[in-house]
Amino acid sequence: MIRCLASLTSVIIVVVGAFAQTAAPSRSPQVTVIRAGTLIDGRSAAPAHDQVIVIRGNRIESVSAAASAKIPTGATVIDLSQATVLPGRIDSHTHIFLQGEDPAQGGYDANILNAPLALRAARATVAVRRALEQGFTTLRDVETEGAGYGDVGIKQAIEGGYIPGPRLFVATRAISTTGGYMLEGYAPELDMPKGAQIVDGPVEARKAAREQLDHGADWIKVYMTHRSWVGKNGELVSQPTLTVEELRAVVDETHGWGKKVACHAYGGIGLHRALDGGCDSIEHGLDLDDAAIAQMLKQGTWLVPTLSVYYKDWAPADTPAGQRDHLRAAVHEPSFKKALQAGVKIVFGTDMGGIPWTEPIAQEFSRMVEFGMAPMDAIQSATSRAAAMLDMQGQIGVVAPGAFADIIAVSGDPLRDIKALENVQFVMKDGQVFRSK
Ligand SMILES: [Zn+2]
Repeated sequence: MIRCLASLTSVIIVVVGAFAQTAAPSRSPQVTVIRAGTLIDGRSAAPAHDQVIVIRGNRIESVSAAASAKIPTGATVIDLSQATVLPGRIDSHTHIFLQGEDPAQGGYDANILNAPLALRAARATVAVRRALEQGFTTLRDVETEGAGYGDVGIKQAIEGGYIPGPRLFVATRAISTTGGYMLEGYAPELDMPKGAQIVDGPVEARKAAREQLDHGADWIKVYMTHRSWVGKNGELVSQPTLTVEELRAVVDETHGWGKKVACHAYGGIGLHRALDGGCDSIEHGLDLDDAAIAQMLKQGTWLVPTLSVYYKDWAPADTPAGQRDHLRAAVHEPSFKKALQAGVKIVFGTDMGGIPWTEPIAQEFSRMVEFGMAPMDAIQSATSRAAAMLDMQGQIGVVAPGAFADIIAVSGDPLRDIKALENVQFVMKDGQVFRSK
């Protein structure tokens, strides 16, 4: 037993050592050349063929046609001439501290009530590795669901080279109001922990934003709607949470720090408060009415629709929750189509964590295309458009000179068969090859 532990320890040291080494800056940056059979660069309207990408250190130096390209001497050449090469993808709505909590195993509540924080951090470590191996080199992770500032720690572990994972933009604790978040349904005498930071009034709202920004939040996440149900006329009704005044305090504070606010909002009063209060992105937006779409266009609001998560794991059809789940999906499709047609800036996001990390992240592309988005548009929603939302335009989400070398390859042609985006065969992040098969 002791021997087993000893050998396990040495294996762990080797792995950590390898990552720590790769993070150290080297004196003469390594030069890598990728031969790309087809290149979808993340922002051009059409693919290019037979391209050569030169990478020096962690940046892309040049992209040129193979016929005229100069291969630097001593460069490591990676042959992806039979593949489609793309920028590393960006999932702008994830929860690395959730695991698709199975109701049969206690669901969301057990994750907060029973799981030690170290267990949650260990599972988050697996989640970020799963994202990277599927070719998602950046995540905007929109709150830790009761795990405090754990996302800041995971981000530091990735940046320090201790664990593999994507670039993280983190939102820390998120903000909602009394009556606006789980855990709920317990005896009123019990002071239960909540999955988000609870505020009431503009002063508390601003203070929460300040605390979260102070402790490392890259984005602030606000829940503008909470419960939802089927209304008297068969419509989807969502309970609003923060008032416009409360939200404005959060947005004002966050914008002052040069950062942005992501707002969970389904529809109705809460959605309109989100827009009146100046949210930068609407998350889910299940039931966008025409006035909301017009306001989003006017204000340049991003939409992260997270389609897939609403089409699975419905409660039994004969229960109120099941009827609500069915209605949420039923209104989401036309809402998405209206936003798409109107030209709202749609960004790829999945709600992974709400979906178990064992499932393919890229399934969202198929759903977007099924609902009328062109394949190239869907790809750009997860590359250059997401980068623009994250204020990382030209740095990530594009294969172009000067960008970070976050590059993936898939087998097949995703413009003909969107499911090809699920067949990732190569992943490079920050100039380091993470996966090659
Ligand atoms: Zn979410």
